[in-house]
Amino acid sequence: MAGASVKVAVRVRPFSARESSRQAKCVIQMRGNTTCITNPKLPKDGTKHFTFDYSYWSHTSEEDPNFASQRRVYQDIGEEMLAHAFEGYNVCILAYGQTGAGKSYTMMGRQEPGQRGIIPQLCEDLFTRVAREGSPELSFSVEVSYLEIYCERVRDLLNPKSRGGLRVREHPLLGPYVQDLSRLAVASFADIADLMDSGNKARTVAATNMNETSSRSHAVFTIVFSQRRRDPLSDLTTEKVSRISLVDLAGSERADASGAKGIRLKEGANINKSLTTLGKVISALAEATSKKKKPDFIPYRDSVLTWLLKENLGGNSRTAMIAALSPADINYEETLSTLRYADRTK
Ligand code: ADP
Repeated sequence: MAGASVKVAVRVRPFSARESSRQAKCVIQMRGNTTCITNPKLPKDGTKHFTFDYSYWSHTSEEDPNFASQRRVYQDIGEEMLAHAFEGYNVCILAYGQTGAGKSYTMMGRQEPGQRGIIPQLCEDLFTRVAREGSPELSFSVEVSYLEIYCERVRDLLNPKSRGGLRVREHPLLGPYVQDLSRLAVASFADIADLMDSGNKARTVAATNMNETSSRSHAVFTIVFSQRRRDPLSDLTTEKVSRISLVDLAGSERADASGAKGIRLKEGANINKSLTTLGKVISALAEATSKKKKPDFIPYRDSVLTWLLKENLGGNSRTAMIAALSPADINYEETLSTLRYADRTK
């Protein structure tokens, strides 16, 4: 059942200006689906190999078979996930990696032409398909929510008055949900783009006020997509509802336990816990799928993130994870740990 397992991609970003100016060395190599990392301190025997569904390279040119533009990443991963949503599955795309490795570039991207990330491309495609496929028998509705999880507290990014601390509850049939979270109806890509913009600003403003950075919170953008089909003969209507969750995870770098105190220590512990739980949940589900058996206990409730994503990760769902990597030797340890994490979720 290869189609049902988690799709895993890794994507290495180009050197930053700072890394280039310090003549950083590249520790990553890619060939086909394989990504290799070489320990800069043990270049002779320190190379480790990992195989993923996709290994994306950035700092060459379009001719390189591993070169991945924003378009290519969307076509490989976003398009497939959108197709699953139209089939009625819940889907989830997650970006994992250390701060500065390219998670928000991959998910949101930048405004310039050709630089838009998976989320805006997927939203635009969604409305193109809705316009093309809608008919008197088939109608669609789209609603979005945008939240952030910081230190296990949920904040509504689409409600400027939200201070965080929204309650997470569980509906017996529909699964976990956030009480009082805004869910706004949207009729066009422009509507979604506006909401995405104000949500992103709310995230940055709150981060600045609280002297933190948005890299310490998880951002979850969710599209609830309903398809209503009326049978002209019987006049009966059936509805298919899919949830598309697009997640920019908190930076995976480990807080230096010896130096971190107070809120920093708490932040670090919460991030580690939710990322570890996420890894456990995904690998337990992937293992059950590959063995075609019902999964054993899945620890969804061990973190707010996995609890909220329960219906998008397990059951009737499809998941893709993109692990963002820095190419530079100084980030070797973090990059290796990102590769290992991605490897375990396959
Ligand atoms: P993160 O969200 O993981 O903290 P960002 O997405 O903000 O990291 O990326 C850090 C910087 O690197 C940004 O300036 C971003 O535009 C740039 N960047 C990241 N990935 C790529 C890429 N694949 N190609 C070009 N620039 C990238």
